[in-house]
Amino acid sequence: PTYLILTIITIIHLISTVGNTQVVPRPRLLLSDPDISHKLHNDPHTMKLASSDFGNVVHHQSPVAVFRPSSLYDVVSLVRSSYNSPVDAGGFTIAARGQGHSTRGQAMAPNGVVLDMGALRNPTLGHGINVSHDYADVGGGEMWIDVLHATLQRGLAPPSWTDYLYMTVGGTLSNAGIGGQTFRYGPQIANVHQMDVITGKGDLLTCSSQKNSELFHGVLGGLGQFGIIARARIALHPAPKRVKWVRLIYNDFSAFTKDQERLISINGEKKENNYNYNALDYLEGMLLMHQGPINNWRSSFFPLSDHPKIISLLLQHTVLYCLEVAKYYDDHSQHNVDKDVQVLLQGLSYVPGFYYDKNVSFVEFLNRVRSGELKLQSQGLWDVPHPWLNMFIPKSRINDFDSGVFKNIILKRNITTGPVLIYPMNRSKWNDRMSASVPDEEVFYTVGFLHSSGFDDWKAFDEQNKEILRFCEGAGIKVKQYLPHYTTQQDWANHFGTKWSSFQERKYHFDPRMILSPGQRIFNNII
Ligand code: FAD
Repeated sequence: PTYLILTIITIIHLISTVGNTQVVPRPRLLLSDPDISHKLHNDPHTMKLASSDFGNVVHHQSPVAVFRPSSLYDVVSLVRSSYNSPVDAGGFTIAARGQGHSTRGQAMAPNGVVLDMGALRNPTLGHGINVSHDYADVGGGEMWIDVLHATLQRGLAPPSWTDYLYMTVGGTLSNAGIGGQTFRYGPQIANVHQMDVITGKGDLLTCSSQKNSELFHGVLGGLGQFGIIARARIALHPAPKRVKWVRLIYNDFSAFTKDQERLISINGEKKENNYNYNALDYLEGMLLMHQGPINNWRSSFFPLSDHPKIISLLLQHTVLYCLEVAKYYDDHSQHNVDKDVQVLLQGLSYVPGFYYDKNVSFVEFLNRVRSGELKLQSQGLWDVPHPWLNMFIPKSRINDFDSGVFKNIILKRNITTGPVLIYPMNRSKWNDRMSASVPDEEVFYTVGFLHSSGFDDWKAFDEQNKEILRFCEGAGIKVKQYLPHYTTQQDWANHFGTKWSSFQERKYHFDPRMILSPGQRIFNNII
């Protein structure tokens, strides 16, 4: 093959790194197809974006260039160039980057190439969003907000959502995609019928649970390790029009989790006293803490007039727990929704008088975090460091977690002001053949410490995160990190547990040269 040596890019990059304290030798990019070389970019603005992410904690992981493809075949060509390059030239790593909403450099490619999936969002270039009667074929670089708008035009919507929608389909499917609907509909990865994937060998393959099933299951929750998601076929359900959205405040952790568990045990239709009703559509929960605002960027909900009442309860108890549920409805079901919610919530142990509800449109509900984001952006507070910690905790140890973490570490350190989410889900809604790793109990909780910090103090939050993980290890609480970040391969082996050997085998099979998603630091040793 005729290789085109992109020395210009290398030289420019070398010059641009002189003057930094450390000059890292840059690999040469050998591209087998000269037609794609002009799609590599390394202007300072592009490089800066590709060397940062939402976390704003990992810096100096700069790529050699950012690749903006005009078609999937450009991506195939890029991957093949790396895969086929001579062993002594080393090839180069490639990180698909969706919206870069990772927090630990997972979408970065130090010394490699960042593949800008957003470049294929143009429907004439990529897959776009094609809605059929009960599924949508969606390009991997499309954002969930656009999937929502496109599917609603046909009166349909995916059943499973994340709390925030300005992230890509490929990005969330590489993790799992969890939210308040997960207990009932499973994570987003459980709602995919089929995918087109470009493997680390540069093969573009269609896969499903029947066809190329190892690749299909590997990629879902596979942290970008086995292939680049070019298209996903996502299940659709009839979309509701409106949502009854309720928050209840608790002062007792056991009562709060008992009620959450009871509510997620109702999964389909139920009959009580001759009344037929259906399960909730959404359930989450969060901590309200003395040092944090009652409303936060994730959503403002409580009426201002009630803030003094809630703060006074908070002063009595230091920590409160807020159960959040939603029930969808449309023209047919609007007359029953209040009764359904009443039946579902009867007998719950929230503090009397601390019941709040709202009726909002389906889009307003799903896109609830956006207004908070825009507000923070306007104040310059969105691009601050985000030393987040997300984890799954088995139900059997959630009380130990509460006493050791919420009631001890968090209160003692007294630095947590951002949202702390906590809600349970059912393992039976997950598919164990997929790569995502969850605790070995039917009910487990997700806990998310969604910290925002100043540029100088993110390390204090990082220390707190480490203390939480150390506590869990010491207490024998078998937690799994979600959106995981580890620094040793032993930690990754522990994370995947019984799935580790098949995870490794899939890597050797689909990406033997360890090209893809190096920023996850599973197979690529990045400092
Ligand atoms: P990126 O950060 O760009 O990429 C993430 C990883 O996926 C990287 O390793 C990348 O190489 C790989 N990747 C990206 N695209 C592809 C592709 N097409 N094919 C193969 N690999 C690919 N998560 C939840 O589950 N639930 C939530 O409610 C939730 N809320 C969030 C709210 C906010 C404000 C933020 C910042 C994050 C939230 N997340 C949530 C986490 C989010 O799901 C992940 O960070 C996700 O990866 C972000 O998507 P992205 O497009 O920005 O991915």
